[in-house]
Amino acid sequence: MYFRILHDESQGLVSYLLADLDAREAVVIDPRAQDVRIIEAMLQEHHLLLKARLFTHAHDGLAPADAQIRSQQLQQGGLVELGAEHLRILNTPGHTADCLSFLWRDRLFCGGLLSAAECPRQPKVAAPQAMWDSVMNTVFKLPAETLTFSSHARATSPVSTVMAQRRHHPWFSGLSRDDFLNLMPH
Ligand SMILES: [Zn+2]
Repeated sequence: MYFRILHDESQGLVSYLLADLDAREAVVIDPRAQDVRIIEAMLQEHHLLLKARLFTHAHDGLAPADAQIRSQQLQQGGLVELGAEHLRILNTPGHTADCLSFLWRDRLFCGGLLSAAECPRQPKVAAPQAMWDSVMNTVFKLPAETLTFSSHARATSPVSTVMAQRRHHPWFSGLSRDDFLNLMPH
């Protein structure tokens, strides 16, 4: 497999490219418009076909085309095929009302779920109760060694583990659900 992280230092936005070099298929997660050329160059260099542009979230609501892709993906059992493997789509609302995460092997691409405070567009959590449930019931139920990859990383690393997040996340470690909800601006 081929895996690249694309990071925009000024905004702290992070995108990911995953590819199966044998099947010559790739997907990109949270691609930015300014990265179109570099992504195309990577695809050409490795003779890859781009199978899907996946978005964990969009701040102004989903564009109609993306909303259609999203519903198709969920209807297909929540799987995105990538060569002989697949990414599993997980419903993890919270940072935005309908944001998603993508699980590939032991790697979770979770958008702004664990890094909402670093989002340049929407530092205020859209759905605090849903966020708590997404983190506790979906992300923290994954094995401790699962790697987490955020799409927002201004001050912190985009890469962590479920174990480190359980232990050290300022909102999701040590606080009760009520503490967390009280902490959120109303
Ligand atoms: Zn965001």
